[in-house]
Amino acid sequence: VSFDVEDDPDDLVARPPVVTVMGHVDHGKTRLLDAIRHTKVVAGEAGGITQHIGAYQVEADLEGEKRAITFIDTPGHEAFTAMRARGAQVTDIAVLVVAADDGVMPQTIEALNHARAAEVPIVVAVNKVDKPEANPAKIRQQLTEFGLVAEEYGGDTMFVDVSAKTGLGIDKLLDAILLTADADLDLVANPDREARGVAIEANLDRGRGAVATVLVQNGTLRVGDAIVAGTAYGRVRAMFDENGESVEAAGPSRPVQVLGLTSVPRAGDNILVTEDDRTARQIAEKREAAQRNAMLAKTRKRISLEDFTKALEEGKVETLNLIIKGDVAGAVEALEESLLKIEVDDSVQLRIIHRGVGAITESDVSLATVDNAIVIGFNVRPDGKAREAAHKEGVDIRFYSVIYDAIDDIENALRGLLKPEYEEVHTGTAEVREIFRSSKFGNIAGAYVQTGAVTRNSKARVLRGGVVHGDDLTIESLRRFKDDVTEVKAGYECGIGLGSFNDIQVGDEIETYEIREKPRD
Ligand code: GDP
Repeated sequence: VSFDVEDDPDDLVARPPVVTVMGHVDHGKTRLLDAIRHTKVVAGEAGGITQHIGAYQVEADLEGEKRAITFIDTPGHEAFTAMRARGAQVTDIAVLVVAADDGVMPQTIEALNHARAAEVPIVVAVNKVDKPEANPAKIRQQLTEFGLVAEEYGGDTMFVDVSAKTGLGIDKLLDAILLTADADLDLVANPDREARGVAIEANLDRGRGAVATVLVQNGTLRVGDAIVAGTAYGRVRAMFDENGESVEAAGPSRPVQVLGLTSVPRAGDNILVTEDDRTARQIAEKREAAQRNAMLAKTRKRISLEDFTKALEEGKVETLNLIIKGDVAGAVEALEESLLKIEVDDSVQLRIIHRGVGAITESDVSLATVDNAIVIGFNVRPDGKAREAAHKEGVDIRFYSVIYDAIDDIENALRGLLKPEYEEVHTGTAEVREIFRSSKFGNIAGAYVQTGAVTRNSKARVLRGGVVHGDDLTIESLRRFKDDVTEVKAGYECGIGLGSFNDIQVGDEIETYEIREKPRD
């Protein structure tokens, strides 16, 4: 059964843009969201107390015309990509906040790339211009390198100088959002139909039961509607806006708090209105069963570089998405440049959706999950959380320490020629807590095994802050107290001798792995 009815173009009317604010930590995302809300809340909240419901709408005045904008009140690209992972694209425009006294930082670029991967237009808010050391021109300059060229420099990105502290420039920022929406997007919806939307926040309230903030995307949601939200269902008992005022109906792009669901949906769950309560319950139950089956069958298989080659041969894919992380900027740039130079068939395309310096993070893995990308780690490794997430989601992370090896693999994959035979299997990690000198074995690392196990015949590498400091090492001695042992499991301490590798320090991580023949399927 398909519930999505195609709208008659004659029924479509303009709807407000939905905006997410992103940027580096401490650059002022939260304060900017507060400032916008306080200067511009739509409804007259005379004496009213604004509530955090996960999103709010403000009214701007563009060339004499009053127009609404919806802001998602959870800043950051992590929440944004997590929602996309659940199949929900709620954001129309990303506001990239950069502090004028600090400049472009790693998470600025991460946010930029996450917005780009979602093909969401970007407006740059150059914040903290009230500070004496602010240098807004420098921000424009810096972002040029990343392909965001300000309009005043002949580009097509709107940059607005703001101060979340004094309120300066907020009006201009709202104008820029509307102008960008008008130039790049065709935001329309049909208010005269049953509603569809997304849960952007939900929780269980002691007195009121399940409370969900719903962003209506199409149609109009009304009190009394029977709804399904993911695997939750119910009837809309009451709705409230961001001022805590009760609402009867919510049209496109309007966020409302909804009461009446029998259980708590998850952020990113789709909401739809059904004919009646029974249908709502049936759909919810079916979804729940489907979810259970999916969990059991682990149907969520991501593409690996080998799968890509195979699918390419069968004509089933044409784009290879890559995320590149490396230990130094120069290596990442060199790798990216060389990869983009690979000449392939017109039918195949390579897209580098994100690149950065440092360990592979959970946010990299979540972007890879959403956009089915393969992650390249050049002399870097995933941190613990990222490794777990990659394992759970089946994200293919490939490690290299020689640029040409990486280029060879990608080139072969893009030509449908990749024939891998061996793979690396991660077996354990240990944290170095002390260093001992041994005349026989050189430096011995007094280490605590944190995950898996360290075995005498596995390979090892040394990581310092996620960066590889020694690779393809052999464990030449492994001891518990005075005894030579073959294996030390997680939760125990041991002495590890890495032979000729002597550059070991307290705080390093020793990662162990085995090289195994790849199972053929
Ligand atoms: P977030 O981590 O990006 O959400 O950053 P916050 O909104 O928490 O802001 C970080 C710090 O910068 C806080 O101490 C804010 O008060 C301060 N801040 C934010 N915007 C401005 C601004 O426009 N001017 C000045 N002077 N300080 C600001």
